[in-house]
Amino acid sequence: MDCLFCKIINKEIPATIHFEDDDIIAFEDINPNAPVHLLIIPKKHISTLNDATDEDTLLIGKMVRTASQLAEKLGIAQSGYKTIFNCNKDGGQVIYHIHLHLLGGKKL
Ligand code: 5GP
Ligand code: ZN
Repeated sequence: MDCLFCKIINKEIPATIHFEDDDIIAFEDINPNAPVHLLIIPKKHISTLNDATDEDTLLIGKMVRTASQLAEKLGIAQSGYKTIFNCNKDGGQVIYHIHLHLLGGKKL
């Protein structure tokens, strides 16, 4: 499949990875909008949030939980952060493999 994030999962494209397990990978955004800007993605290819099903509920919960754990690890949990899913054109989605943005380290 011609998907940039699947290529990152398969290590065909390099990324600075902060967390990885069987379900999820988290890496630095190539064009950060904040001192901390990570993308948390499922290894399962899901194009948009609209394509997630009941079967994916636990996986999406795990993405959110991973975001809060990484925020703690990177020292921004107390100062605060934003978590964002962009969906489709009006939501500003550019890469069609769902990803949770984790942004922090400054006042947003
Ligand atoms: P979207 O607008 O789809 O929610 O966000 C896509 C994000 O992926 C953008 O913030 C963009 O900077 C990031 N991005 C695009 N291409 C690459 C890449 O090749 N590597 C990494 N690490 N991030 C990328
Ligand atoms: Zn993909």
